[in-house]
Amino acid sequence: MKTQGETMKEVTPTLPGHFLGAHLMDEEEINEVLEVMRSKSIFRYYGPQLLGKTDQFEAELARFLEAEHVLAVSSGTAALKTALQALGIGPGDEVIVPAYGFIATANAVVACHAVPVFADIDESMNIDPGDVRTKITANTKAIICVHVQGVAAELESLLDLANGHGIPLIEDAAQAFGGTYKGRKLGTLGAAGCFSFQTNKIVSLGEGGAVAMRSSDMYQRAAIYHDQGCVRHDGFPTWNNDACFFGENYRMSELSAAIGRVQLRKSRILLKQLRELKAQLRHNLGAMGLHLRRVPDAEGDCGVAECFYVQDEQIRNEIIARLKSDNVLATPSYNSAVYENRMFYNRRVAHSSGSPFAHSQITYEPGMCPAAERLARLSVWIPVIPLYDMDKIETISEAVQHIMASY
Ligand SMILES: *Cc1c(COP(=O)(O)O)cnc(C)c1O
Repeated sequence: MKTQGETMKEVTPTLPGHFLGAHLMDEEEINEVLEVMRSKSIFRYYGPQLLGKTDQFEAELARFLEAEHVLAVSSGTAALKTALQALGIGPGDEVIVPAYGFIATANAVVACHAVPVFADIDESMNIDPGDVRTKITANTKAIICVHVQGVAAELESLLDLANGHGIPLIEDAAQAFGGTYKGRKLGTLGAAGCFSFQTNKIVSLGEGGAVAMRSSDMYQRAAIYHDQGCVRHDGFPTWNNDACFFGENYRMSELSAAIGRVQLRKSRILLKQLRELKAQLRHNLGAMGLHLRRVPDAEGDCGVAECFYVQDEQIRNEIIARLKSDNVLATPSYNSAVYENRMFYNRRVAHSSGSPFAHSQITYEPGMCPAAERLARLSVWIPVIPLYDMDKIETISEAVQHIMASY
């Protein structure tokens, strides 16, 4: 057996400088938070003078997303884990995830003691339904798609596949809050949609998340799982109920929900602004003849970033360095396929048994998902932030044109 060191490629870390809703925080969020502090009731289910911000935030999210059920949770990872647990996914199960994106998606699967199976991506930087089809086995219990950087995955084909095999599709919409696919909000087409409200995301509470669900049974299970396995009556918990099962604490705090209500209101304007800016940027870069990321449904794009491909990795890194020195917020983004992070090759978990891998034939090897490895190294990402205006978009476009003229 060859040692991993021989085939593994180096992965260069970069600190994300891409803030969206966070840039819009002002007195409005501060006042909502102060209101909660003055009520001395920061826990969502009871307190001396409960204001019910989390209940309100959930109702407002449901209205905005046009979702049947929304559960607020403590992070995007908690949202994924809660969705997987609510669907009963665990040991022995395989969950298909995209080979490109943030590691949290696969982590949540392993945290449920299920095994992530990677499907390759295409030039949309999102999961390739054709490759998903080849990865489905009798053990596949869910498919998770990620709407990477605000661009919808091919939901129609993915839903056909999932429905055809009787397995749920979970949308990881952590980077795509408010985006749409054929007019419907991302996160509401699959069995569950998971959102993150972490600091880099469109709706920013520092930490936070939500799960949107279609089925009321699934919603009940999610609510139980995220709240130590209890059911509540008038805010008070009981475990004296046959619906109860072992859970964790992924509850949202009233402080977070207070910020969330304001951020949600602002997200409408934010998304409108980002979309206009990105459309112009995309138009400009397209006019230069650059090889742009494919966007299946441009109308629903959140507009958080543009991405184009160049011919090799070294040139890509050079271009990014030159853009940065021209004050353009360019980034290689994830820079590798998800499974190129060491713990996948080593199948390493906290417990020495190596569960869930101990009972699975699934392994991870360099070259498994060639498009993800290649596109991760050839893509230049240009984030769009709410501090930009059309003049800034023109300045960025000119910088790109000037630099790309030498390649
Ligand atoms: C941010 C993110 C997550 C995790 O969200 P946290 O709130 O940081 O736990 C999951 N999936 C994707 C695609 C993300 O971008």
